[in-house]
Amino acid sequence: MEKQNANSRQLDFIVRRDRHLTEAMGECWHESNGRLNCKKCESFLYAKSPNHISYNNEFSTWEGFGKLWRWGQQQEWWEEFVGCLLEPVIDKGTLTHYRKFDLDFIDPDKFADALYEFVDA
Ligand SMILES: [Zn+2]
Repeated sequence: MEKQNANSRQLDFIVRRDRHLTEAMGECWHESNGRLNCKKCESFLYAKSPNHISYNNEFSTWEGFGKLWRWGQQQEWWEEFVGCLLEPVIDKGTLTHYRKFDLDFIDPDKFADALYEFVDA
C-alpha cells in the first residue's frame, strides 16, 4: 500500500515535470476532449505506439531526452544550466578545475529533473 502511494506520487511528479517542461518549450500539454482531438489546441491525438499511450512528451524516455537536449542547447541559458551540472574539483581547499560534465546526467530522468529544477527556479 505504501509502495503504491510512493509510485503514484512519483507518477504525479513526472507528469508535473513533463507538463512544465513541455509548456516551457512553448508546446501544448494536450488534454483529450473525450474524442480524438485536444480540447486546447485541437490537434489530433494519437498513441505513439501500443506501449506508448501518452500523446504528450515523456521525458523519461530516450526520445524525450533527445528532444529536451536539443531544445535546451538552443536556449540562451544553456551555458548557465550546464554550469550547474559541472562538478567542481577542489584540491587543498582551492578550486582547481571543473570536470567537463557530470556523466550521470546522461540519463533521461536525471536530466529532465535537473532541467525542471533549473527552469522552475
Ligand atoms: Zn493540445
